[in-house]
Parts: sequence; structure tokens; C-alpha cells
Amino acid sequence: MMSRESQGNGIDLSRYAVIPVWYSCNNDCSICMLANVKHKLGTVKPEAFRSLVRGLVKDGRYDGLILSGAEITTFEYLERYVKEASSYGRFNKIQLQTNGRRLADRDYVHRLVDAGVNEFFVSVHGLEPVHDAITRVPGSFRETMAGIVNLSKFPVNIITNTVLTRCNYHGIVPLLRLLCDGPICELHMWNYFPMERSDTQDMIVSMHDVMALFPDVVKILLATGKQLALKGFPECISPGAPCFVDSRFPLNLIQDDFWSEFGKNGFATCCFREICTSKRCWALSRAYIEKYGDEHLILTPRTGGQQ
Ligand code: SF4
Ligand code: SF4
Repeated sequence: MMSRESQGNGIDLSRYAVIPVWYSCNNDCSICMLANVKHKLGTVKPEAFRSLVRGLVKDGRYDGLILSGAEITTFEYLERYVKEASSYGRFNKIQLQTNGRRLADRDYVHRLVDAGVNEFFVSVHGLEPVHDAITRVPGSFRETMAGIVNLSKFPVNIITNTVLTRCNYHGIVPLLRLLCDGPICELHMWNYFPMERSDTQDMIVSMHDVMALFPDVVKILLATGKQLALKGFPECISPGAPCFVDSRFPLNLIQDDFWSEFGKNGFATCCFREICTSKRCWALSRAYIEKYGDEHLILTPRTGGQQ
């Protein structure tokens, strides 16, 4: 099995840092990682934002900056924050992590691009009925897709992200086919983060079912020349080019209350941890193992030097 890092292609999120600046959103997703914690998190004020950005500039390891929310495009002062970040000349990429619904507004995107945004990471969780059921906002799929079409008129990277759950599992192949035919430079599929110790919403997909998607997904990717990064999955299930498990994540400068909630996931649990040489692998969550077992017949410990 080959890790994506060894291929050295695609977006390297470990070179990015994320600053979540505010916690309102115009969607109400059933999969939202912030649902139980956003009421505890406060808006990052301009002085605090400047200090975080200066810290990253001084640190020197990150040449990409991601601004996120909850939904960053509902933040009134976004352009001002982007201009501040851009003014240091340090970041090759300034990315917005967004549900994309506001991006059909040509003037708005124009202003964001003028301020310094050159990459958009847009969440699309299914075709229309599934996406709208997950976001719990009728019409949100159409708005997001209109946003992507509008972005294609600007000199920006468009990356899509889909969180894999039992709600969208059966529509994943047609969704990826649609996205691959669009102006997307790279697709991501993120594992579902339950943010709790058990899968009370019955969202987690078994690794057996994840792997059953690969033949059709690889066929679509090969036909369109696109690649798919699988994030937060066991590295040893990676099917290989052009569909890779990629365990690289950005530095996230979110406030501490989030991390106590995040810890409930218990990722990186694996019965082969002691003997596997993969150091970054996300392996399985605690809720996954409670639901499906430790998958010792599917997982394969990696050997060789540090990976
Ligand atoms: S769009 Fe993002 S922040 Fe908003 S509810 Fe959905 S997952 Fe949460
Ligand atoms: S054996 Fe476990 S730690 Fe090693 S790559 Fe597979 S899931 Fe990750």
C-alpha cells in the first residue's frame, strides 16, 4: 500500500494553518463537528487575529492559511481579515473553508479575490436531496453548486470536500462523477468525526463498505484525470493512485474547548499500533470499534522506515 505523501502530489495540508474566526452558520448540518461546542467559542477579534497571523509568519513553517468558521462567508469583516493576512506576503495560499452558498454572488467573490483569497474548499455532501437533508436547508445544494460555477470564472483553486456517512454512502459514486466533471482541481472525502464515544446517529460507514466504493471511484477519477484525497481513514486501506489516504492535516488554531470535544473521537486506535510503522495514521475511532470491531482482518500493519 502506498501513502499519498510518497507520491508528493496534491495539496499538502500540513503546510497550512487554520484560523477559525467565528461560529455562526447559514446551514444546520447533522454532521457538524461544531454542533455541541460552538456556543462556547467566541469570535476572534481583530487584535487576536493579527496576533495569530503574526505568530504564523514568525513561525515560518506555514505558507498556506485557511480561514474557517462555522461558516466564514457569513462573517461581516471577512474581507478585512483576509487583507490583514495577505498584507504580510507570507502565504502563497489563502483558503476559505466554506459551504459555498454565498459564492454565487459575483461581486462578493470579486472582493474576496481582490483581498487575497486564492483557494476555496467547498463542502458538498451529496446530490440535491441528500445534501439538503444533511444541511437541513432546502435549496442549499443549488446555491453551493451555483457558487462553484461562479468560482470557476476566477483564478482560484477549487477543492471540494464530502464527509462520508451512512446518509450519503449510496450516492457517493454519482456525486463524485458530477464533481469530477466540474471545475474542481482536487476532491477530498473526509471520514465522519462522531465527536462522541458512540455512534448515536448511526452515521459511521464500515471499512468494508468504504473499500467497496473504490473500484467505481477510481474508474471515475482515471477517466477525468482528477484525484481524491481520503482524510482521516486508515492508511492501509488506500487503493493507490489516483485515490489516496492522506493523513496530513493543517495546524488548527481553534480554541481549547473544541479539543476536549474532539478527544471523544479517540482516533488513532488500532490493534496493530505497536508494530505498524505508520506514525500519522488516523486508524479507527473509538465509536467505530464499538460498532464494527477492530477490523484486524482488514487492516495491514505497515513495515519499513518511519512513514
Ligand atoms: S456548513 Fe459547516 S459549520 Fe455550518 S452547520 Fe454545516 S458543517 Fe457546521
Ligand atoms: S495497521 Fe493500523 S496504524 Fe497501521 S496503517 Fe493500518 S490502521 Fe493505520
